[in-house]
Amino acid sequence: MEKNTCIAMIPSPGLSHLIPFVEFAKRVVQQNHNKLHVTFLIPTFGSPSSSMISILNVLPPNIDFTILPQVNIQDLPHNLNLETKITRTCKLSLPFLHEAVTSLSSRTNLVAIVFDVFSVDALVVAKKFNLLSYIFFTTGAILLSFSLCLPKLDESGSLTDLTKPVNIPGCVVPFQVKDLPDPVLHEKSNETYKYCVEMSKTLSLFDGLIVNTFTDLEGDAISALQEKHVNENSPCVYPVGPIIQTESTWKENQWEFIEWLNKEPPKSVLYISFGSGGTLSQDQLNELAFGLELSGHKFLWVARVPNDSPSSAYLIGQKEDPLNYLPSGFSDRTKGQGLVIPSWAPQIEVLGHGSIAAFLSHCGWNSILESVVHGIPMIALPLFAEQRMNAVLLTEVIKVAVRPKVDNESGIIKREEIAKVIKRVMEGDDEGLEIHKRIKDLSDAACVAISENGSSQRALSSLVQQWLNI
Ligand code: UDP
Repeated sequence: MEKNTCIAMIPSPGLSHLIPFVEFAKRVVQQNHNKLHVTFLIPTFGSPSSSMISILNVLPPNIDFTILPQVNIQDLPHNLNLETKITRTCKLSLPFLHEAVTSLSSRTNLVAIVFDVFSVDALVVAKKFNLLSYIFFTTGAILLSFSLCLPKLDESGSLTDLTKPVNIPGCVVPFQVKDLPDPVLHEKSNETYKYCVEMSKTLSLFDGLIVNTFTDLEGDAISALQEKHVNENSPCVYPVGPIIQTESTWKENQWEFIEWLNKEPPKSVLYISFGSGGTLSQDQLNELAFGLELSGHKFLWVARVPNDSPSSAYLIGQKEDPLNYLPSGFSDRTKGQGLVIPSWAPQIEVLGHGSIAAFLSHCGWNSILESVVHGIPMIALPLFAEQRMNAVLLTEVIKVAVRPKVDNESGIIKREEIAKVIKRVMEGDDEGLEIHKRIKDLSDAACVAISENGSSQRALSSLVQQWLNI
């Protein structure tokens, strides 16, 4: 019997990588009347979260998954930063991955592996089985362009010692050092820093780099990458985005707040969320709360228990009730003005709701794409990882967001500044109106990119065709 052509995909731990990987896999199998099969091999260091299970439980036919045996969390020091935790988990999962790929290749016609950027150490497995290898970059082309430059920047010393802003091929605006991704702002001896440099050097060994972006969003960066201005050895780049969640995995009527939202006028509510695990410090949370009150605008806020480490809830979630950490009397004073939801909301439904006017976001790449697709202007409050770079793209390059200023003395954004930017986006002064127009145009362009003959659709189908032709 002829074996199915199969692609293995290896997302790294964390919902914000799993979500676009799953959506990408769905698009892949839809391309050719389900002639391809996708199997997820998922490294993990803890029991899968309920959100993860709810995503994996509704995979369509032709996509399945294996959760690799848990890496022993005791083997990882408690104080490890987020990126190191993720890369170590992927590394420690290598023997399990090897076993899973051995089994998969005996049962199917396995032709390629698609890796996450944090799992590039597993490239050896693809090489051993003589498989094509790709990276699915779940962030944008500018970050990819920066990654390809990193080895050169590294040769000239520590990035934190740079005195001038950094030029990245394909970006018209130079980046202040403080806006570069967190991992490269560590010492050169730091494990995550070293991983990033090694990972960047490894990129040229892959058969292709798949990026969740599209021409109208990052046209210059895509051209720079495709014309190999960044690195002459870089492999073929496939911009296939925007790939976002298309359907919610939550049950109908699960969320009471939707009823509240249904009663609000069109385009009247500010949505606030910091991704799958972003957290504010207690001081910043207080300022945000008072800023919302001051603005007088309606809001829907997905709040988390404050923490000084902004990625503190990223892989572990929270058990405590964040409402206990709001300023005293806030809930009473804002009754009728807004709602605070603990920890999680079905974001894709919220952004698609007609009452939402704007999104105060931490600028995670998925949140950005979801906001762009729904034509929702943003207020950029980046927290960690590459989010500050994303905020620069949104505010200074494509200009679909405003970024409140951080108070130099306290290092946080004060309530008056928060109220000011909320008013600018919600009430639409000249700048606000321009932002609204541009995001609407970008949303239309996103729709075209993934439609038949759109640029992203063409990139995706050429990729899938390669896999089917093997
Ligand atoms: N998300 C959600 N509900 C929430 C918070 C996040 O559905 O309350 C989803 C969101 O729609 C996005 C992902 O989780 O798809 C977060 O990814 P992003 O890249 O924006 O941020 P990260 O989690 O990496 O910080």
